[in-house]
Amino acid sequence: MNDKIAVIGGGASGLAAAIAASENGKHRVVVYESGARVGRKILATGNGRCNMTNINADIQNYHGTDTRFILGAKNRFWVNETIDFFEKLGVVITTEPDGKVYPYCNKASAVLDVMRLKLEETDNADIVTSFEVSSVRRKDGVFLLKTYDGREDTADKTIIATGGKAAPNLGSKGAGYEILKSFGHKITPLRPSLVQIKTETDVVKRLKGIKLDALVTIGGESEYGETLFTDYGLSGPAIFAISSRINGEKTVSLDIMNRYGCNELHAMLRERAALRENTALENFFTGMFPNRVGQAILKCAGVAPLSRRAGTLGTDEITRICALIKKWDFKITGTMSWNNAQVTKGGALTNEFDPVTMESKIVKNLYAVGEVLDIDGDCGGYNLQWAWSSGCLAGRSAGK
Ligand SMILES: Cc1cc2nc3c(=O)[nH]c(=O)nc-3n(C[C@H](O)[C@H](O)[C@H](O)COP(=O)(O)OP(=O)(O)OC[C@H]3O[C@@H](n4cnc5c(N)ncnc54)[C@H](O)[C@@H]3O)c2cc1C
Repeated sequence: MNDKIAVIGGGASGLAAAIAASENGKHRVVVYESGARVGRKILATGNGRCNMTNINADIQNYHGTDTRFILGAKNRFWVNETIDFFEKLGVVITTEPDGKVYPYCNKASAVLDVMRLKLEETDNADIVTSFEVSSVRRKDGVFLLKTYDGREDTADKTIIATGGKAAPNLGSKGAGYEILKSFGHKITPLRPSLVQIKTETDVVKRLKGIKLDALVTIGGESEYGETLFTDYGLSGPAIFAISSRINGEKTVSLDIMNRYGCNELHAMLRERAALRENTALENFFTGMFPNRVGQAILKCAGVAPLSRRAGTLGTDEITRICALIKKWDFKITGTMSWNNAQVTKGGALTNEFDPVTMESKIVKNLYAVGEVLDIDGDCGGYNLQWAWSSGCLAGRSAGK
């Protein structure tokens, strides 16, 4: 047997890397996992169903300093190869009409179990759990791995697959960034992504618990879907999805009547005011929006008092109400924390790695894969795709 390959982190990218690295049987491959079990985050993905990939995955679904970095993977190990990889491991796969790919049984454990089983059945692969790597150094031509509790091991090649900082309760606490920094790699600023958005709370707090379908826009990018008002700001699938596009923007806008154009909405509201001329404004929107939302719209549009009759609404007031319904602005004050986030924005600067092998251009035989790199994807299977692709490419290269 030739060299020993250490994979640090038994998550999505690390397990994929270990399977690929052990494939040709030339090397001994050891996965070092800090937790008592590997793949805890995989089990939490897709609400426990594991949205493994997306058949539409392309460069525009990814973010980072240089997203062209993913082209190395896209041209070699992408969606079809991923589906093939998992089918060969035994997962029966289904693709939903929106392109999202899941195990047919809708259980994330199916994805983790086949990977674990494959490594258990592979003679030249081992998994070592409860081994939390604190540092990796180059010493006498090998990598020296140390743990926080003083244990040591060595390897000829090392793949950093420690994940980012999102969802630290599932194991990823950011150790990989420090390890890569110690080898001279640059880390771009880190932020939570696929996460709830904090806004000024005076309006949202009063609407807490209400869900609306809305077109959510931040800095020219939009997502349509369910949006939930909370006491700290906004949540829901559309908000999670758009959060990956936040880049210093200060405003999130909701269009809560997306299927109506401005003129059409204006005419509809004028007609409504005429039809309900004796209805108090506080009930003007009954049948159109939840009452609390209707009242908040009137307040934000400066239409008062709510005891007035709808018939007294002037054209200017209707114009202001219309504008607000089509573009309801909320000042962004931040996002929720790492504990709530699904992925990390930012990471190890990709131009310091080879996009085909994921090997460091600074240190030979050192690789980085998955979320620790400065690549993050949209919501919808894209992040796991990146984990599988980068992991398999690094594993194959290290295992050659
Ligand atoms: C709730 C939730 C749902 C998600 N759903 C989806 C989804 O459906 N589809 C999708 O595409 N993406 C989803 N994601 C994102 C996706 O899970 C991640 O992007 C992906 O798991 C990243 O893979 P990774 O291998 O880089 O990191 P991880 O999967 O986080 O794995 C890192 C591993 O390294 C271990 N580790 C960390 N530090 C050390 C250390 N010092 N020593 C040893 N081991 C260490 C950790 O314990 C962990 O097991 C979801 C994320 C969350 C939090």
